[in-house]
Amino acid sequence: MKFTGITYRPPPEANTLLLQVTAGCAHNNCTYCSMYTDVKFKVEKLEQIEKDLQEAQKLYKSETRIFLVNGDAFVLSAKKLRKISDLILKYFPMMETITMYSSIRNIMTKTDEELKDLRDNYRINDLWVGVETGDADVLKSFNKGYTMDDTYTQLKRLKTAGFDYNCKLMLGTGGRGKGIEVAQKTAELINKTKPKMVRETTLGFFDGTQLQEDVKNGKFLPATELEILEEQKKLIELINVEDTHFASNHYINAVSVNGFLPIQKENMLNSINSFINNADTSFLNSVAARQSL
Ligand code: SF4
Repeated sequence: MKFTGITYRPPPEANTLLLQVTAGCAHNNCTYCSMYTDVKFKVEKLEQIEKDLQEAQKLYKSETRIFLVNGDAFVLSAKKLRKISDLILKYFPMMETITMYSSIRNIMTKTDEELKDLRDNYRINDLWVGVETGDADVLKSFNKGYTMDDTYTQLKRLKTAGFDYNCKLMLGTGGRGKGIEVAQKTAELINKTKPKMVRETTLGFFDGTQLQEDVKNGKFLPATELEILEEQKKLIELINVEDTHFASNHYINAVSVNGFLPIQKENMLNSINSFINNADTSFLNSVAARQSL
């Protein structure tokens, strides 16, 4: 199987067959991200994709789920995605779900008809969308290439086309003093867009990123650990959905909570409160480096 440079996939896809359809990230410009700075964006050739599927077929006979890598694979045109889906189904006819990372920008480039066709006829579903925050100003400062209005509009289009999608969020995006306000806006986003799953990590300050420079220059003041924990609590408190898997359990989070909302809301809040009550004041007032994923 061909993989170019570092390959990322969401933790719940740990047992999912991976197939490279792009290398790197087409955007590669978010101020906090260093994931693909060393990898030039490239679209994989169909011949190589078929070769990889032939190899995978020898190892895995009856896969029902496949994750297309890399950083924003839904950037591919609907035409190319249809061809890839046809190839996957040729070698894995039992395939139920073809999933991948998608930016909000990648949804914008597809028509409603294309989205519905990809969902209805090509088994593409369960997209992993990095929405990161519900705060429009924070989103703008991260240079993700779309606005908060775009986030609302494009997630609604996905839902209308019949897609399930999972939203990725980060704690601490607003920096010092803004955690509660960001949590309120992010909860509003989740409540209105109703993703199947929410996964939450914490903002890091990675080498080579604009954000790390901004921290050094004092342009961005990172939140303290206590602020991040209060933000995590407030978001859980305010999320008001019927049945959503909420996993705020990335290993760089100070406290790991994972379960379904609303049924496990109290348990999650109790875990965070208990952690805060037992933590050293010096830790709660500190700013963690979080420089690796
Ligand atoms: S956060 Fe995602 S979209 Fe932004 S540069 Fe990194 S991989 Fe690309």
